[in-house]
Amino acid sequence: MRVTLLGTGGPRPDPARQGPATLVRAGGLNLVFDAGRGVATQLARVGVRTGDIDAIFITHHHFDHIGGLGDLIMATWNARRPGPLPIYGPVGTREIVTALLEGVYRRDVNYRIVEERVLGRTLAPVSSMLDVHEQMSGRIDLRSDVRVVVGEVEHGGAALELATDHWATVGYRIAADDREVTISGDAVAGRDLGVLAAGVDVLVMCAYLAAGEITSVDERFLAEKVLAGAPQAARIAKAAGVRRLVLTHVREKSERDLDRMREEAEEIFDGVVTVGRDLLVIEI
Ligand SMILES: [Zn+2]
Repeated sequence: MRVTLLGTGGPRPDPARQGPATLVRAGGLNLVFDAGRGVATQLARVGVRTGDIDAIFITHHHFDHIGGLGDLIMATWNARRPGPLPIYGPVGTREIVTALLEGVYRRDVNYRIVEERVLGRTLAPVSSMLDVHEQMSGRIDLRSDVRVVVGEVEHGGAALELATDHWATVGYRIAADDREVTISGDAVAGRDLGVLAAGVDVLVMCAYLAAGEITSVDERFLAEKVLAGAPQAARIAKAAGVRRLVLTHVREKSERDLDRMREEAEEIFDGVVTVGRDLLVIEI
């Protein structure tokens, strides 16, 4: 199995990091987790054409995680992908995909279909290419030897008292080739994250702030209730007994603070800690 960090940034535009997106090559399938800004370009950089994506998984609906989704869907359709493209995501994903295709990109979709007709060809509607599944738990058997387990994670919903209809957040555990990797999505400890990450080879875990950056009330709220900082990410990895912790979703910071973030995690977690960078490849 191979994990490629396509984008390791967060909501703030960062010249060094694209929006959250991770490519997992599992059993020969190309699985894309989250579609942050720049995802289609990053896929091209690592030689994966949009038509070669086998499934997209969305963890939640903050704009940094879906900012590149419309682009990715339209580029995949434009590449004339044969067969359906499954998109998995929490409650609300279908509404977003529909809004993109029937709202934001309605004129473009119509343009391309008419253009093909004028040129004597037919182009199937983009909606017929997509197969959207809203799933908050359970197992997805992509193939008999490639499976993905879905679980809920805690990403601000409890603190803000948001019902699932309004705010649904999940993580994914991928198993193939006798290896397992967990994508936390944005999360703090709680809900199903411990089970999702238990004993995996690699945990790709959000870690926005280093401990030294958590100084204000706002940052404390964020780090405790919404988005783990490096120490909490390390505690989650330690409790789950993972082999390697890869930190992603990093707020822009100096090289020194990035080193500090790794050191903070290493003080707590005994396994290998890697602070993610865009296009970093992890062979498992
Ligand atoms: Zn995020």
